[in-house]
Amino acid sequence: MLKLQGIAVSPGVTIGEALVLDSEGFRIPRRFVERSAVDTELARLAHAIGETAREMERNRDAIRAELGEQYAAIFEAHLAMLHDEKLQRELQTAVRDRNWWPEYAVSRTLRRYAKVFQSLDNHISQRAHDIYDIEKSLLRNLLGQRRETLAAISQPVIVLAHNLTPSETATLDRRFVKGFATELGGPGSHTAIVAEGLEIPAVVGVGPFLADVSGGEPVILDGNQGLVILQPDEETIARYRQELEAAQTVAAQLKEIRDLPAETTDGVRIQLTGNIEFPSEAEQCLARGCDGIGLYRTEFLYLASRTEPTEDDHYAAYAEVVQAMAGRPVVIRTLDLGADKMHARLNIEEERNPCLGLRSIRLSLRQLPMFRTQLRAILRASALGDVRVMFPLISTIVELRQARMVLADVMEDLAEHGIAFNRKMPVGMMVETPAAVMMLDIFIKEVDFVSIGTNDLIQYTLAVDRGNKDVADLYNACDPAVLRLLRRSLDVAREAGVPANVCGQMSGSVMFTQLLLGLGLRQLSVPPSAIPEVKQVCRSVSVAECRLIAEKALAMDGAREVKAYLRDQLRRRLAQAVA
Ligand code: PEP
Ligand code: MG
Repeated sequence: MLKLQGIAVSPGVTIGEALVLDSEGFRIPRRFVERSAVDTELARLAHAIGETAREMERNRDAIRAELGEQYAAIFEAHLAMLHDEKLQRELQTAVRDRNWWPEYAVSRTLRRYAKVFQSLDNHISQRAHDIYDIEKSLLRNLLGQRRETLAAISQPVIVLAHNLTPSETATLDRRFVKGFATELGGPGSHTAIVAEGLEIPAVVGVGPFLADVSGGEPVILDGNQGLVILQPDEETIARYRQELEAAQTVAAQLKEIRDLPAETTDGVRIQLTGNIEFPSEAEQCLARGCDGIGLYRTEFLYLASRTEPTEDDHYAAYAEVVQAMAGRPVVIRTLDLGADKMHARLNIEEERNPCLGLRSIRLSLRQLPMFRTQLRAILRASALGDVRVMFPLISTIVELRQARMVLADVMEDLAEHGIAFNRKMPVGMMVETPAAVMMLDIFIKEVDFVSIGTNDLIQYTLAVDRGNKDVADLYNACDPAVLRLLRRSLDVAREAGVPANVCGQMSGSVMFTQLLLGLGLRQLSVPPSAIPEVKQVCRSVSVAECRLIAEKALAMDGAREVKAYLRDQLRRRLAQAVA
């Protein structure tokens, strides 16, 4: 049994079979060869070894001509390993005697070799990379056209991958993908957010571990603790089965408060809305008793499709959500593409600092036809219900004004053509840069509502990449700098009489509910899966007590202290609720 610690990004526990995707995206399931097909498969293996050897020879000759003998020696060494008799014998035995599929035999055997090298604590451990290179070349030749895509998964698996992009994650079929873990990835990445939207347990930032696992092996994924457990023993499996049952009981209890309002014990009504990426999630929000949709991340319409969405594609998606919400508010955020939510079609040159680059509203304002298409669809949907539009990543007043001007222009267009829309559709902005917080007293005069995006606000305030596992410990919503910016934003909004919401992941974590209510927040937008728990906490606290908690937290000077305090306060609250 091997227990690996990563970053918990989407809760839940799942037990299943591993499907391994290495950095090149190969799928290596544990498959067995029929006895009658052993000779054919051995021939396929021999052919792949021959092809790989020829490739290496070609590379060696090219490098020798370009750079000289010294560099060609690298390929000579690869060739020697590939032709090693012991290795060849092991591969053949695996196919002939154990009936392993050649791909599986290659992956298992070479990863075992690589691990031996990795375990040596000296410069020789670097040779493990050479072994992985040989494995990749062999697999490429074996798999040929059979490389399947993630989208084609058709049996229950837990995906273990080097990395998954947000768009790859968006295409996962959750009927079959029961959870995933990745070597890369940080706590606030959009891959993490999509996993939460799909409601599949996920752990990211585990670090290198794929060498220790082959497809088909049993694995436990603990999205609550951020653990990946390879080859679990019987006792651990039994313990996790019990945990799964207990979680089902809690979920059933939480269902009972579905139709009750998120109202504090001193009678303050909190508006609790859902964050969605896909129209289908609207139903999940309703099933958990939401007051509407507080954040619809529309860029996933782009990320999940191969072709550019048309105005009608946009409209159909929005109409589905608005109709499902039956009069409840739906906040549609305009495209927040760029940074880690990139799409090849956007033709943006590679940027050195994508998070500080052409993303979000900046991109929309540069690609006006795309922006206008979306605004037309949002406006058309505004005729169907309580639709509100929100602009992301506003950092200057000019951006806000420009976005509003494009909106006004699109309105005129629709009016001219007699197309119905709500001329009074509320317009809001996200507060997710320190600049927006500092200038909010000015910006707020030109919007109908604001929504604080703590995921980006933390990233830009603390100068930590939300998707980077190596600085994940610095990405902290408890940091006093973040708390001060939140307080300032909520104070400014209250003074201006403008509704304010928090829609970053922070609002979905019950550890922060009392703090946020104490800071004056009356609207929270959270991932669908978090609605019942957050509602339960809202219903068991008083605003008066929350104020005291917020005051105390704000007086603290370090994130660690704040975190310990908030955890303790939550524990007390839950203990009181049970008593
Ligand atoms: C945020 O930044 O907090 C937010 C809600 O937007 P996103 O996570 O899509 O960047
Ligand atoms: Mg954001």
